[in-house]
Amino acid sequence: MTAQLIDGKAFAADVRAQVAQHVKTLKDAHGITPGLAVVLVGEDPASQVYVRSKGKQTVEVGMNSFEHKLEADTSETDLLALIDQLNSDPAVHGILVQLPLPGHLNEDLVINAIDPAKDVDGFHISNVGLLGTGQKSMVPCTPLGCLMMLRAHHGSLSGMDAVVIGRSNIVGKPMAQLLLGDSCTVTIAHSRTKDLADVVRRADIVVAAVGRPQMVPGDWVKPGATVIDVGINRIEKPEGGTRLVGDVDFDSCAEVAGAITPVPGGVGPMTIACLLANTLTACCRANGLEEPQGLTA
Ligand code: NAD
Repeated sequence: MTAQLIDGKAFAADVRAQVAQHVKTLKDAHGITPGLAVVLVGEDPASQVYVRSKGKQTVEVGMNSFEHKLEADTSETDLLALIDQLNSDPAVHGILVQLPLPGHLNEDLVINAIDPAKDVDGFHISNVGLLGTGQKSMVPCTPLGCLMMLRAHHGSLSGMDAVVIGRSNIVGKPMAQLLLGDSCTVTIAHSRTKDLADVVRRADIVVAAVGRPQMVPGDWVKPGATVIDVGINRIEKPEGGTRLVGDVDFDSCAEVAGAITPVPGGVGPMTIACLLANTLTACCRANGLEEPQGLTA
């Protein structure tokens, strides 16, 4: 392997330490404790794991964690009533509704019912619009984590050619907006892109957010490029059992790239760290206090 490894685990630990330090200052100087409310509807096992992990890390950085676990058949009316209550609760600075929601609930309606100032996932249409127009917003956690690692590695991203593979609302599109905001020349590739290999080969920065195991081989990567692998895919091991892999073929890409994030231990840990950073930011904004530097876009 010749690429430098971008250690998301260490990076996330550093972000959490910075958040914890700010939280302590908020408590000591202003008597304010940031609070994050997480709403889980139903019993999807992966969502339960995420929610548990979010709650644990929230408490570890000194914030209040409020967990609301609702039955899978909860009505939209009841869910919207809970969101209303959280919107007006001054102890709650961030609200996250764990996705996916059960099929009978309209995700767009539910997300857009969250007060945009408390929308720490950055999925509310107001925040999407603010990000798209370069205004102060709440930024989706996964792309924010990718941006932080890219900035830390490169310093300025200005003028770099970036390709984002994937155009989802939660990763691909906001990632492209953030890179544009940092003055990259951005291409968004997707399932209908012609000659994806050729598009990827032109990029100084490749962000893969597709959900297809190891689909980007090393010979698509420009020598020296930085590869950020957002994908989380579980595959069968030849000897039995399973393991997690990303959307890029790590071994071949690491021979060509200048820097690369591993899976696991890359983008994944940064996502929850950025959720905590967003909750802190939301709390500072709600109280008219200065925002922490380096923890927002
Ligand atoms: P998604 O399914 O919503 O979007 C996938 C995108 O990939 C689509 O825009 C589609 O056009 C594109 N695509 C599909 N096949 C393609 C192909 N053959 N060539 C080019 N593009 C193709 O997925 P998502 O929610 O954006 O997630 C993407 C991946 O990132 C998944 O593996 C997911 O598990 C992972 N993810 C990780 C984190 C994290 O914290 N690390 C967070 C969110 C998502």
